[in-house]
Amino acid sequence: MTSAFTPFPTHLSNRILCYYVNTTTQIQQAKILTIPNWLFERVVFPRQRLLFEAIPDALLEIHSCAAAGETLLNKIPCLHLQVSERSRVGVGSSLLNDDLQTDSMECSVKTLCPYCGVGCGLEVLPAPQVENAVNGQGQAGNSWKVRGDRAHPSSQGMVCVKGATVAEALNKDRLLYPMIRESLDQEFRRASWDQALELVASRIQTVRSTQGADGVCMYGSGQLQTEDYYVAQKLLKGCLGTNNFDSNSRLCMSSAVAGYVQSLGSDGPPCCYEDLDLTDCAFLIGANTAECHPIIHNRLQKHHKKNRSVKMVAVDPRRTKTAEDADLHLAIQPGTDIDLLNGIAHMLLRWNCVDTDFITNHTVGFSDFAAVTQHYSPAVVSERCGISISDLETAARWWAESNRVLSLWSMGVNQSSEGTAKVRAIINLHLITGQIGKPGAGPFSLTGQPNAMGGRETGGLCNLLPGYRHVQFPDHRAELEQFWGLPAGRISADWGRTAWDIITGLETDDVGLLWIVATNPAVSLPDLERVKTALRRSPFTIHQDAYYPTETAKFAHVLLPAAQWGEKTGTMTNSERVVTLCQAFSPPPGEARPDWKIIAEVGCRLGFADQLSFANSAEVFAEYVQLTQGRVCDMSGLSHDRLRQEGPLQWPCPKESGTQLTPQIHPDQLLQTAVTAKRLYTDHQFPTADGRAHFSAYHSRGLAEPPDAAYPFVLTTGRLYGHWHTQTRTGRIEKIRQMHPHPFLEIHPRDAARIGVEDHCLIEVRSRRGMARFPAKITAAIAPGTVFVPIHWGELWADQAEANAMTHDQSCPDSKQPELKACAVQLAPVATESPQADHTLFTKTLEVASVSSAL
Ligand code: SF4
Repeated sequence: MTSAFTPFPTHLSNRILCYYVNTTTQIQQAKILTIPNWLFERVVFPRQRLLFEAIPDALLEIHSCAAAGETLLNKIPCLHLQVSERSRVGVGSSLLNDDLQTDSMECSVKTLCPYCGVGCGLEVLPAPQVENAVNGQGQAGNSWKVRGDRAHPSSQGMVCVKGATVAEALNKDRLLYPMIRESLDQEFRRASWDQALELVASRIQTVRSTQGADGVCMYGSGQLQTEDYYVAQKLLKGCLGTNNFDSNSRLCMSSAVAGYVQSLGSDGPPCCYEDLDLTDCAFLIGANTAECHPIIHNRLQKHHKKNRSVKMVAVDPRRTKTAEDADLHLAIQPGTDIDLLNGIAHMLLRWNCVDTDFITNHTVGFSDFAAVTQHYSPAVVSERCGISISDLETAARWWAESNRVLSLWSMGVNQSSEGTAKVRAIINLHLITGQIGKPGAGPFSLTGQPNAMGGRETGGLCNLLPGYRHVQFPDHRAELEQFWGLPAGRISADWGRTAWDIITGLETDDVGLLWIVATNPAVSLPDLERVKTALRRSPFTIHQDAYYPTETAKFAHVLLPAAQWGEKTGTMTNSERVVTLCQAFSPPPGEARPDWKIIAEVGCRLGFADQLSFANSAEVFAEYVQLTQGRVCDMSGLSHDRLRQEGPLQWPCPKESGTQLTPQIHPDQLLQTAVTAKRLYTDHQFPTADGRAHFSAYHSRGLAEPPDAAYPFVLTTGRLYGHWHTQTRTGRIEKIRQMHPHPFLEIHPRDAARIGVEDHCLIEVRSRRGMARFPAKITAAIAPGTVFVPIHWGELWADQAEANAMTHDQSCPDSKQPELKACAVQLAPVATESPQADHTLFTKTLEVASVSSAL
């Protein structure tokens, strides 16, 4: 089947907006004819709605969409399809989903997996015509099948179980309508969009006039698309003048951001996935790629198995699946990463296995760093880390002997009270060996969420502004104010509230309104009891989400139903800087709307229609990319149309012509380096003030809360292969629930014997802040003195099994990322009638006291 599309000729002034719905169960081909030199041809899936422009005389032809030959089914004059009102933000009805105009021109739709930062391409097909689909039969009401997109450059057709089953959650427990209530002890009642948005806008206005703009906070998510993020930044940081937008990337990647910026001058991972195929030595630290980034792990493993000389080192207190696949597992004591990294540097310097030319010509701060490493002799490091000197030497030797070392890290490094220092200690090793800006080498952070990168690019943390700008730089603020048409001085020079500062602001009544979008802080933030108490006292909380119930919804006064993956068109950037257009293929259920539209609508009601009236997400993206021109993350050459036509593209992707951004970015901020899209810093020039990379000289401090006599164990937390975050989506997918039916606590046999528990017995874990109970999983995969629990179970899915009931809020002073990975706990067996834990305690059946289906 062929298909074609050219943009509608904009010079035709008598255009009308038309609306067509495929009410059949067959795929159709829509063609609009009679306009000279213009053809509109589009596949329309069953139930899909099409919104398009035409002239009144045009004729819509509906054909069957058979592979060989087409049959004309219907001819409809476009005049008969005219809608009465243009659907623009601030005016239109949610029934008109103009994002659906941008659907694929083929019988499948290309999009991106909405889970982790690997960013695998997916192809979505209507269920009846799928071949080789990776998931089984769909759930009731689910008419979509998913398979890997072989043309996607990052994943080449591969997907893990999460991506393969994602469509199964599309129609489960969806929040369908806006809901409101005056207080948390009341039931929600259904409201119209108009009522709900008016309420939100008026409450924001009240807080602005009584407490100032800084009384308003938004807490977003790496699940949001770039367009959602951008509109939120423009509303909060620009129009309202508060930097109180933070996202759950604060819990995930903010240490990587701070580390890159401090060492290299800008955020942005310098590597790409091709480096997984080219490296001589993969050094994985704090990253269980086998479970958390499985497609990256598969690719690396393939290279590793094919080339026996390639080394793989895994640094992790647990013997994870990743560690099992490695040639060397360094099971360091929690919190000793910097000791290890400085210890490796010590040996490289002692052996003179350093790149002196690189250090001399492209770095500063080497002598201070070298002085620090003198304190990390093999004996000291071996003792602190709990590893043998010989294993330490092996790791250092592989660094020394390899031409191309690729380090990969994730939450095990970032979620630490010295997360930024850890990231910089990794980068230090690349700087002394010159292992950066070349194929197969470099420091490579693996993002947790699908669009954590897009969030960073659009300024989606409370210290950032779009285009990798920072709130503390006056010229960065001025550029944004001018570009957004706002008065000088509107953007605050101060950091806004971080995720944790929002909680403390609720405690002190400094936060008057909290707007939570696509995230579940009632499970994911540390010190949960304190968080819940703070949320309970919030004067006004809006929870904008696709699903109901969630643990956070119970703390909300307003629920706003959001369109999710597959129901809105927008972009996401993955760990290797590849931007993918995630195309809508299904209308949102009920009255759900895209996040950016909801946020923009509120902004329009607050008087910012000039800034926030976008016709569609393509228009949002077109505005946003202008702000990246000349920046490290230059994507000014990208557009929705280009991504649709050419497929996913990697930044930097500058505009080819000499078109300049107005206002023009100061020459000092232009990237001075000849970057290629694949790798940054290939000419070893860095976007710092002096063009050099900066060593850090930092002594390890260890855990913020080390074990002691009262709390003698270290609790570490992490993710499982099948589940995603707080299970909002994966908890609703049967196959994944069966894969991981209940939470557990990993404990070493020696510790289990010491406290007197057997396999599957219930253990109570208690920290200074809270407690939980888990069935024991006795395994030598965990080091003595350390226990592990998965993060995925909130109170919706199990009783008293929240990992974050125990964790603390101590965070990195630079990145403000909390140390979710470690806290001190005590353990005790729970006396039960049966020696085995009753697993039904941990497998709650979700009872949806539905605000949606009941209506
Ligand atoms: Fe999705 Fe990540 Fe799995 Fe790829 S590896 S399919 S992006 S969850």
